Amino acid sequence: MQNFVQYAPTEIVFGKDTELKTGQEVKKWGGHRTLIVFGGGSAVRSGLIDRVENSLTEAGIVSERLGGVQPNPRLSFARQGVAKAVEMEADFILAVGGGSAIDTAKAIAHGAANPEFDLWDIWTQKVPLTKSFPVGCVLTIAAAGSETSDSAVLTNEELGRKSGIGTELNRPRFAVMNPELTYTLPKYQLGCGIVDIMMHTLERYFIPNQKNQMTDEIAEGLLRVVIENGRKAMENPSDYDAMSEIMWCGSLSHNNLTGLGREKDFSVHKLGHALSAKYDAAHGATLSAVWGAWAEYVCESDYARFAHFGEKVWGIRAEDEKEAAKLAIGRTVAYFREIGMPVGLKELGIGEISEKELRELSMNATMGGTVKLSKIKELGVDDVYQIFQEANN
Ligand code: NAP
Ligand code: FE
Repeated sequence: MQNFVQYAPTEIVFGKDTELKTGQEVKKWGGHRTLIVFGGGSAVRSGLIDRVENSLTEAGIVSERLGGVQPNPRLSFARQGVAKAVEMEADFILAVGGGSAIDTAKAIAHGAANPEFDLWDIWTQKVPLTKSFPVGCVLTIAAAGSETSDSAVLTNEELGRKSGIGTELNRPRFAVMNPELTYTLPKYQLGCGIVDIMMHTLERYFIPNQKNQMTDEIAEGLLRVVIENGRKAMENPSDYDAMSEIMWCGSLSHNNLTGLGREKDFSVHKLGHALSAKYDAAHGATLSAVWGAWAEYVCESDYARFAHFGEKVWGIRAEDEKEAAKLAIGRTVAYFREIGMPVGLKELGIGEISEKELRELSMNATMGGTVKLSKIKELGVDDVYQIFQEANN
């Protein structure tokens, strides 16, 4: 087993009606003046924001609302949030929503705690981030895992770049997780979430020569649970047990439990972020659209690993490792298709992508060709271009 450090400090408050405890939670974690950050309206329409606000008031906490976070959250909106948080003298930032609201809340917390610095300078680590305000969240979609993760992602719309910052200061103090809050999700968003949860696990799985049997078993078990319950939730989005399993897997997939003792890869995320930055496509959809092409391209470097994945997750057994690896990739892609997710760029609904645009995407994903992606097989900008081409066929 490799050395590791495991630190997953977020308090999980899981189950029915738990959003009514939000006020107590904020108070417990030291908040007095809270900015509530949420998205384009689903949490208002469901009455959730009112319930959360009442719970804050009952706990004696002053709060203001900041709605309007868009999926693929924008830097400019986070900047507005920083100004509002500073103006109201917030000491706690509360996200109600999914990865986009939570990542925006994290950004606002960093910016408001360091108003002398520009937020993008903080984000790109031009200036050191040494303090932040506490963040809590009420989760409404099982997907990004931002409710427990040490990362946050923003799109700088001026630069056309989507990028993340990883820091322990990104860990939320608490996450309220009531699976019933996810019942109103459109199926496409549910599918995006299932893909993202699988991807946070797979991006920690295809790492060569770093054996941790327990980590493997956790990852494989998590994938099997998400796959099975993903099917059930697609059939019946109000299936409490299925949604509970998916929601809990979402948090575990990205708090690093599925990657203990290993490096991370996150190459497929880099390809996805390039697509989201340029076409504003949904995060999970960009991942399913390119994963098959990525896996086909890199698997020759480690057929055994892909075959092992196939056996443990899909029950595939074949004499030949290469055949088993190819079958495993095929089964994964077929599952994405089964739950209604795109499995190629043409299915992303963004129209024809020209060769020139594929080149631009490859440059963007590799930071202008300066960064190599992927651990299992090193990928330069030309390799990434070939993967995008393959995904575009
Ligand atoms: P999201 O972008 O937060 O939300 C996606 C859509 O789902 C929005 O249109 C939202 O509508 C809707 N929605 C959410 N909950 C709903 C509900 N209960 N009922 C109806 N509609 C609902 O989704 P996400 O996948 O969680 O987050 C994606 C973002 O997180 C991406 O930017 C991605 O890059 C990032 N990400 C972050 C991490 C991390 O660790 N920080 C990891 C992976 C991905 P409303 O706006 O109306 O609520
Ligand atoms: Fe993700």
